[in-house]
Amino acid sequence: MTGDRSYFDWNATAPLRPQARAVMLASLDAPGNASSIHSEGRSARQGIEGARGKVAALVGAEPKNVIFTSGATEANMLALTPALAVGGRKEPRDRLFVSAVEHPSVLSGGRFAPGRIEVLPVDGNGLLDLHALRSALVRCEYLLVSVMLANNETGVIQPIAEIATIVHEAGGLLHVDAVQGAGRIDCDMKALGADLLSLSSHKLGGPQGAGALVLREGLHIAQPLIAGGGQERGNRAGTENVAAIAGFGAACAAAAAARLTDAVRMAALRDRLEAGIKESTPQAVIFGANAPRLPNTTLVAVPGLKAETAIIAFDLNGVALSSGSACSSGKVQASHVLKAMSVEPELARAALRISLGWETTERDIESLLNAWNKVVSSLLKKQTQSGMAA
Ligand code: PMP
Repeated sequence: MTGDRSYFDWNATAPLRPQARAVMLASLDAPGNASSIHSEGRSARQGIEGARGKVAALVGAEPKNVIFTSGATEANMLALTPALAVGGRKEPRDRLFVSAVEHPSVLSGGRFAPGRIEVLPVDGNGLLDLHALRSALVRCEYLLVSVMLANNETGVIQPIAEIATIVHEAGGLLHVDAVQGAGRIDCDMKALGADLLSLSSHKLGGPQGAGALVLREGLHIAQPLIAGGGQERGNRAGTENVAAIAGFGAACAAAAAARLTDAVRMAALRDRLEAGIKESTPQAVIFGANAPRLPNTTLVAVPGLKAETAIIAFDLNGVALSSGSACSSGKVQASHVLKAMSVEPELARAALRISLGWETTERDIESLLNAWNKVVSSLLKKQTQSGMAA
């Protein structure tokens, strides 16, 4: 809670952690290009390498296998390429398979030609259809599969270790967009069986505009997305954003240290919130409720409610939340995630995403539930009246 506002949009961006802010301020005050060999340059280099170790530790990887990028969108674009090399041997991937609930940066297929991308279905809870995965993979030899660890709209967690076994048995590689899961649930690359894994700094309490692609040992990107000065071992050219990278590293360390206690606390608050919503609005539908979910995310719809109107009303009541729908050029479209889960478009357009974080308090939950009682009943009443008048 900040002032009289309650922030429930942590899946969009988490507030900056104090640990990240502190190292960023120090870094902003220090001159130096990390590629220079004088003391100032070496100090910037130290900041980057320190952060690389912290990012690697969060996902149980080797620091040298972490490639810093401008965020997870770029990390996903970098990962999704036919030009992946295993053990120095170039093996062009001729097909990409993605789940239907991926973030748009994965659904776009990165550097694969449109005809080489196949979208795999999910069930009503948003979980990948493993039968569809198995039968799709027998059809080709060199393949890359991309499945997210946890969904940004529903919080539904995919069975990544099981998916990895299927992909590896078929001789494929697995990319995992771990943006929403990292720092909230266990994200060890080896335990997950991920070959490539994307992270975003601003979902973990680091600054916006930083992220990473992490590779498993022995895997190389044969063609960088951005070529030039050879930074990041030739994987991503351009002078590094030292302050942002340092902040990202500090956020990863802080997230790792607090993860277990935060998860227990957030899950209790989330359960209380969902119970309160159900009590006051029994017809509310919570998406993915029968699947494993992140401890911090609730995607809920009240039949007949318009999400965009509700979001404005909540905002006026001091509560920031978001819709489960993709909003581009001011037009709210039904979410592709809910569509893939076979949710009726009308209900999908009512979806509200409530996401919590490490600073969420019981008072925030009370404020949200108070606002909920006020906003939802008055909007439903208004919409019924205008429906009768029409
Ligand atoms: N993947 C997922 C699952 C996300 O939620 C997001 C952010 N909305 C991204 C990728 C993109 O991350 P970034 O903002 O760092 O580009």
